[in-house]
Amino acid sequence: MESYTPSSSQDLFVNIKKETIIEKYYSHDEEGNRVASTRMYTKGRFLGKGGFAKCYELIERKTGQSYAAKVFSKKSLKKSRSKQNLLSEIKIHQSLNHKHIVGFTHFFEDKDNVYVLLELCSNQTLNDLVKRRGCLQEIEAKYFLLQIIDAVEYLHKKKKVIHRDLKLGNLFLNENMEIKIGDFGLATSLSTNEERKMTLCGTPNYIAPEVLMNSKEGYSFEIDTWAIGVVLYAMIAGRPPFETREVKTTYYKIQRIEYDYPEGFPISVEAKHLIDSILKYDPKDRLTLKQVREHPFITKCHFIPSTLPVACIDRIITPD
Ligand code: ADP
Repeated sequence: MESYTPSSSQDLFVNIKKETIIEKYYSHDEEGNRVASTRMYTKGRFLGKGGFAKCYELIERKTGQSYAAKVFSKKSLKKSRSKQNLLSEIKIHQSLNHKHIVGFTHFFEDKDNVYVLLELCSNQTLNDLVKRRGCLQEIEAKYFLLQIIDAVEYLHKKKKVIHRDLKLGNLFLNENMEIKIGDFGLATSLSTNEERKMTLCGTPNYIAPEVLMNSKEGYSFEIDTWAIGVVLYAMIAGRPPFETREVKTTYYKIQRIEYDYPEGFPISVEAKHLIDSILKYDPKDRLTLKQVREHPFITKCHFIPSTLPVACIDRIITPD
């Protein structure tokens, strides 16, 4: 699976020892001449580690603006495939502009590393939130679900992009507890709506049956809808529906759509019906994102908050 890190890449990870990072860039003076300039950043908190990158907060000295910087060591990019993957991630991510997608600022390199500067999401991810809280209330799940659908409809309809790695850990939260979809490392852009993809990739718990099937028909946008069904289940039940100790067993269960709801757990009839209507084996039987939005789980609700208080980061807050 592409989202697994080969352990041999471990020693290739960057370890920024410098406290100041200097970006060299060119601008134009009043006469239109190209002039070399620099921007200085102070290295801030370590934010986390992904497949090939480490993420740090970088603060631009002049403006005081904070960014999340994904830092790739040039050593780790030596293989043309990793370089190709990073270029594809940058190309797709920089073409996106949506309020529920992590903002892409720009990228630059120095002698040792490539730095990709992103909008900083200071409240971690939905994965951290669910781990801390155990599970979320349905009203919170509805609030997050609507924002996720908004962004994924934009990706599919406006940009012909399939994210291919939607999961709690790639759903970031900004300082206002708004969703920002991130990590476009596995994303792919289709040239036409009819094009089919073949590459076997994703994260085991979230992978759709048609990806596992690896057939010559391939797969398309519906794999993201499947992952949204898994995300919804995981927000409400506290763990993904097909989770087992062994990846092989997880794949077996996905291929047979074998999951149940935790006993004695208060999950509404509407939530179960929606999840069951998304987690369909055949992508043609799966609800579309528009149908998810129009499902009674969303429409029968008198009130879905337009904001969530930051205090819900570690406790239940009943929205008023
Ligand atoms: P990879 O593509 O290598 O898996 P990710 O995009 O998942 O990398 O980033 C790795 C980690 O860096 C994340 O788990 C998170 O902790 C942190 N991170 C990434 N992007 C941001 C961001 N925009 N704001 C805050 N933290 C981030």
